[in-house]
Amino acid sequence: MTGENMHPRINSVLQRQTAGEKVEVAGWVRTRRDTGGFSFLEVNDGSCLANLQIIADKTLENYEQDVKRLTTGCSVRVEGTLQKSPAKGQAVELLASRIEVVGWADPEQYPLQKKRHSFEFLREITHLRPRTNALGAVARVRSRLSFAVHSFFQQKGFIQVHTPIITTSDCEGAGEMFQVTTARPHAGTGKGGLEEEFFGRRAGLTVSGQLQAEVYALALGNVYTFGPTFRAENSNTSRHLAEFWMIEPEMAFCDLHGNMRIAEEMLKYCLRDVMLNCPEDMDLFDRFIEKGLLAKLRNVTDLDFAHITYSEAVETLLSCGKTFEFAVQWGIDLQSEHERYLSEEVYKRPLIVTDYPAAIKPFYMRVNDDGRTVAAMDILVPGVGEIVGGSQREERYDVLESRMRAAGIDPAEYGWYLDLRRYGSAPHAGFGLGFERLVQFVTGMANIREVIPFPRTPGFAPC
Ligand code: ATP
Ligand code: MN
Repeated sequence: MTGENMHPRINSVLQRQTAGEKVEVAGWVRTRRDTGGFSFLEVNDGSCLANLQIIADKTLENYEQDVKRLTTGCSVRVEGTLQKSPAKGQAVELLASRIEVVGWADPEQYPLQKKRHSFEFLREITHLRPRTNALGAVARVRSRLSFAVHSFFQQKGFIQVHTPIITTSDCEGAGEMFQVTTARPHAGTGKGGLEEEFFGRRAGLTVSGQLQAEVYALALGNVYTFGPTFRAENSNTSRHLAEFWMIEPEMAFCDLHGNMRIAEEMLKYCLRDVMLNCPEDMDLFDRFIEKGLLAKLRNVTDLDFAHITYSEAVETLLSCGKTFEFAVQWGIDLQSEHERYLSEEVYKRPLIVTDYPAAIKPFYMRVNDDGRTVAAMDILVPGVGEIVGGSQREERYDVLESRMRAAGIDPAEYGWYLDLRRYGSAPHAGFGLGFERLVQFVTGMANIREVIPFPRTPGFAPC
């Protein structure tokens, strides 16, 4: 017998297809079916969508006592010989010579019976849901996409930077920052004193690694971060999480056009990679989660993204004859309904919207020559809406400083950020891609809570 963790994985067993070979696998029983004299077990070990079919003959010494009591969810270790399978849809099956029950799962109690469960129900059993076909497939696709992101940037010579998770720069969305403190409220007043703050000042969980990524871009050229991000926004939508992962490349000596090119190239690379490397899982999503998903993704990899300015977007929305819940006029922040209308109905493909009003964008975005817009770009995709938000950064010291003041930010607090413009400043640009929005787009999952293993949303963080 091979040692713990040394079993070949079922995906590799199924690929080998060599009849006569002896193997040992371990996994969880999905189903058992008895015929006269033997039983079929479908065993899944999470390495792939497919189960390995096990033939358990009644001559096995524990056939009556163990095998015939196996139910969905039990874990087993099986030793046997591969043989050609007469059943269609699978090349090999395993004729068991030994079946060891490693862990039972009481069928009266185990919540994951064979029938299909709703995703809402599965969220209540976050700890068991990766054992379902759909959530297992999401986990594998998510892993592959993460790898693809790193491959893309590494192949292009980008350097990964680990930006801090605890931060004291709360310029972006101060209201959305989770505070980090060891301070207890004063007995009596109920207030926590600043002098008690662990870092000597207000600290929080990062809402973006961008400002710190800029530090490294202006030393190393092309860098990226890929890490956890936290936003205490109370938006209970199908596209927002309180904890999510963000990919943020930052490129020195690069303008908005270079930025858009990299973002488009990266998205296309990731989609191609996952369609090539996870064909079975992608086929599952295409058939059961979003019909036409693969065609949608090929449309993205094969066509150029559409480009319009914010002002053009507003004109299109005003003249389209459709009434939106949130009225459109120049100066508003585009809402999800507007974004989705543009990418789904008008352009029917990813769309890059540029040059937003300065007033609705953060101080670090570069002011355009017109003085009232900034060199921003958002990428909107059908079904999800905004997937990428980025910009060219303001590299001019004076402009940046006055934009800070206008936003009510004390430049003294950001001396380090201004220093980047004081010493060897250079044009630079970058963007943030929400990793879960990417996984959502790629899998067709309607709710973002299904594409992260342990979702955190207002009132929800079970394990
Ligand atoms: P939205 O308008 O959709 O709330 P945003 O404009 O606040 O997003 P940015 O600050 O531009 O988002 O963040 C960059 C990217 O991070 C977004 O394009 C999106 O893909 C992702 N993102 C932002 N907020 C969340 C969230 N709460 N949960 C998951 N992903 C998010
Ligand atoms: Mn944005």
